[in-house]
Amino acid sequence: MTDHLHRFHFQQAPVRGHWVDITSTMARIEAAQQPPAPVRRALAEMVAVVSMLAHDIKFEGSVMLQSRGDGPLHTAMAECRDKRWLRAIARSTALAEDQPFAELIGNGQLAISLIPKDGEIYQGMVGLDHPTLSENIETYFATSEQLETRIRVVTTPTRTVGCLLQRLPTNPESNEIEEEADDEGWQRVTLLFETTKDTELLELSPTQFLKRLFPTDPIFLDDALPLEFRCTCSREKSVKILQTLTREEIDEALASDGFLEVVCEFCESRHRFSGVEIYTAIEGRRPPVH
Ligand SMILES: [Zn+2]
Repeated sequence: MTDHLHRFHFQQAPVRGHWVDITSTMARIEAAQQPPAPVRRALAEMVAVVSMLAHDIKFEGSVMLQSRGDGPLHTAMAECRDKRWLRAIARSTALAEDQPFAELIGNGQLAISLIPKDGEIYQGMVGLDHPTLSENIETYFATSEQLETRIRVVTTPTRTVGCLLQRLPTNPESNEIEEEADDEGWQRVTLLFETTKDTELLELSPTQFLKRLFPTDPIFLDDALPLEFRCTCSREKSVKILQTLTREEIDEALASDGFLEVVCEFCESRHRFSGVEIYTAIEGRRPPVH
């Protein structure tokens, strides 16, 4: 089964949510980057979170999470473009096996960016006060957006599944009794959500999962929306990278290998250029005459 996301909403509580499976995307990322286990887990959580947040935004564009810090995971990035295309990358040094997300980053920053196709980029800073990414994102939404959110991501070497719940704003015309009913509805649903076992997320279909956790709640589950790993690298972009090299650097690489190759760090695609191709691609320069 390819990666996919289901939206759902509760019919009798002010709650909507997303259920996501990004197992195939993580397999692609792992094959290309072979991250150590704690970095793989951090990337899995980041990719699951951006894919779910991307389905909350109203515009066309991307959602990106980027971290930078003095911990062993010094940079990481995950993005979901057009509610469908996923990719991620991490750079790390030696790590301990069981470090939680915030410790992996150390002293640093985690930024969430909303990048519309047209219009201005919005960037928010996510605090790193809690051990997991999910908890920090929940706090970010509660404080910066006044949106109560619960996120759970479970990842193993063979499967990554996530679920997000968000409280819908109370109707401004509601009376006190209706507001109280909304509060109670949200609290009841989140208490049940907190009982989620890893195996329930990993082993049950979204329909079974929601039935198991919320047996008395009528929940409307939308059809699956496909998600897929896809990189943005290309031969044209590789040319731009080659244009930053000096003539000496190019000559040196050609002399030793006979070609130059630009390897994408996200997907491991290799764009290979012969001497003639390089010099014609770069500003239309001709190969040097020796
Ligand atoms: Zn690529």
